[in-house]
Amino acid sequence: MSTAPEALRRDFGGDIIEPGAGEYDAASRTVLASGSPAYVLRPASVRDVQAAVAFARNEGLTLAVRGGGHGFAGFGTNDGGAVIDLRVLSDVDVVDDARHLVRIGGGATWGAVADALAPYGLAISSGDTRTVGVGGLTLSGGIGWKVRKYGLALDNLVAAEIVTASGEVLRASAEENAELFWAIRGGGGNVGIVTAFEFRAHPTTDVFFGTISFPAAEASSVLGGWAEYFRDAPEELTSNVVLANPFLGGPQAPVQVQVTYDGDDAEQAALAIDPIRRLGTVLQDDVTLKAYGDILEEGMVPPPGIEFLTRSGFADADSAPKVISTLADVAASEGSPIIGLRSVGGAVSRVPDDATAYAHRSATVMFVTTAVGPRPAIDAARPRMADLWESLAPHVSGAYANFLTGATDEDVAAVYPTETYQRLAAVKRRYDPHNLFAGNHNVRPR
Ligand SMILES: Cc1cc2nc3c(=O)[nH]c(=O)nc-3n(C[C@H](O)[C@H](O)[C@H](O)COP(=O)(O)OP(=O)(O)OC[C@H]3O[C@@H](n4cnc5c(N)ncnc54)[C@H](O)[C@@H]3O)c2cc1C
Repeated sequence: MSTAPEALRRDFGGDIIEPGAGEYDAASRTVLASGSPAYVLRPASVRDVQAAVAFARNEGLTLAVRGGGHGFAGFGTNDGGAVIDLRVLSDVDVVDDARHLVRIGGGATWGAVADALAPYGLAISSGDTRTVGVGGLTLSGGIGWKVRKYGLALDNLVAAEIVTASGEVLRASAEENAELFWAIRGGGGNVGIVTAFEFRAHPTTDVFFGTISFPAAEASSVLGGWAEYFRDAPEELTSNVVLANPFLGGPQAPVQVQVTYDGDDAEQAALAIDPIRRLGTVLQDDVTLKAYGDILEEGMVPPPGIEFLTRSGFADADSAPKVISTLADVAASEGSPIIGLRSVGGAVSRVPDDATAYAHRSATVMFVTTAVGPRPAIDAARPRMADLWESLAPHVSGAYANFLTGATDEDVAAVYPTETYQRLAAVKRRYDPHNLFAGNHNVRPR
C-alpha cells in the first residue's frame, strides 16, 4: 500500500516505488551506488516529470535524477529523498531524415540509440558502452569512439526539452533560451531535467576497430609515441589506452591501445593506424572492420560491495609527456590503479572554451585513474591516489565530470573553471534559485 501523498498519486501517472515494494531493492540502486530513497518515481510523460519535480520541491525532499544510472559519483540515488528515474522516457526517433535530426528521450541509453540509428546509416558520437545513459554522458561531455572527428556528444546537440525547478517546460537551443542551452552542454544536471535531447546525427559506415597490445615494459615509449602521434593524427582516428588492467596482470598487463578509424576504406585506415603499430613490439592486433553499433560494449554491473575511486584530468600537448611518464611509472608498480587515457583534440578543440559549459577544449588527452574493490581496499588506496595526483597536479588542467567519484568543492572547481562556474551560477539563479537540482557536481546559485 503506497504511503505517497494524495497529491502525488493524483498528479503522477508513472510508477511510484517505495521501501517494501518487490522492485525497491533494484530500483534504489544505480550501477555503481546504493541508496535508500523514500520514493523512486518513474515518470511516463513530461507531465509526470513536472509532477515529480513539484512533489520533491513542495515536500522539501532531496532530489536525485537518474538517466542511465552509470554515474561514478552515485548522483542517481540518495538516502531518504526522491529519485526521478527517467528510464521510461527512452524513445529514439529520427524526426528529420534529410537533416539527420534525432529526438531521444532523457532516459535512453547509447546502445538503444546506436541500434535505432543503424538502419538509417546514422550514428552520434557518444561513449564506448551500450548501457551508459544519454543523459549523464551528454550533459557533462561525451568522449566516445568518434570524438576527434565529430566532437563531444554535447557538440552534436541542437536542442533540448527541459523541466526546470519551477516545473516549467522549456525548449533550449541556439535560438531559444540560449543561455540555458549553453548551460546544459557541460553543466551536468544542474539546471533542470532534460526530458528529450535533439541531436544532429552523422552518416556512418562500418569502422575499423580493435586493440593493439604491447609489452608492459614498453609502456613509457609506447605512450610517449602515442601522445606525440595524436598531436595531429587524422581526425578519423580516435584511441584509448589502458594500463595496469587488473584482469590481465595489473603491473604486468600489456599496454592495450584501442583504436577506431571512422571509415571503411582499408587503405586509409592502415595509413592512419600503422604509425601506432610501429610504436613497439606488437603482441596482439585484432583491428578489423565492424558495424559501429557492435563496437559499443555491454556495461558490466559490479557485484554488491565493490566500490570505485575514480579521478580524471586533462593535459594539453605540452604537458602530456610529463603526465604520461608519471602514469607509466605508476602502472609498473604493485597496487597501481587502472589507468586509462583517451585522445581528444580534433573537432573538440575547434569549439571555443566559452561556447559551452564544457571548457576543456585545448586538451589533447583525458586520463583516468581508477581503484576498484571493497570499501577497505578503497580506503587503503586513497593516500596513494592522493600522492599520485599531487605529483601530477602541475601538469593537469581540470577534471572530466563523467569520470569522477568525488564531488568536493575542489572537484567542482576542477570541472568548472571560474568563468564557467560563475556563468553557470547565473543560469542557476534564474532557473533553479533554491538549488533543487543539487545531486551533481553542484554549482550553487549564490
Ligand atoms: C561502464 C562505463 C563506461 C563509460 N564510458 C564512457 C565513455 O566512453 N565516454 C564518456 O564520456 N563517459 C563514459 N562513462 C562515464 C559516463 O558518461 C558517466 O558515468 C555518466 O554520468 C553516465 O550517465 P548516466 O545517465 O548513465 O548516469 P546517471 O547516474 O543516471 O546520471 C549521472 C548524472 O547525470 C544527471 N542526469 C542524467 N540524465 C539526466 C537528464 N535526462 N536530465 C538531467 N540530468 C540528468 C543525473 O542527475 C546525475 O547527476 C562511462 C561510465 C561507465 C560506468
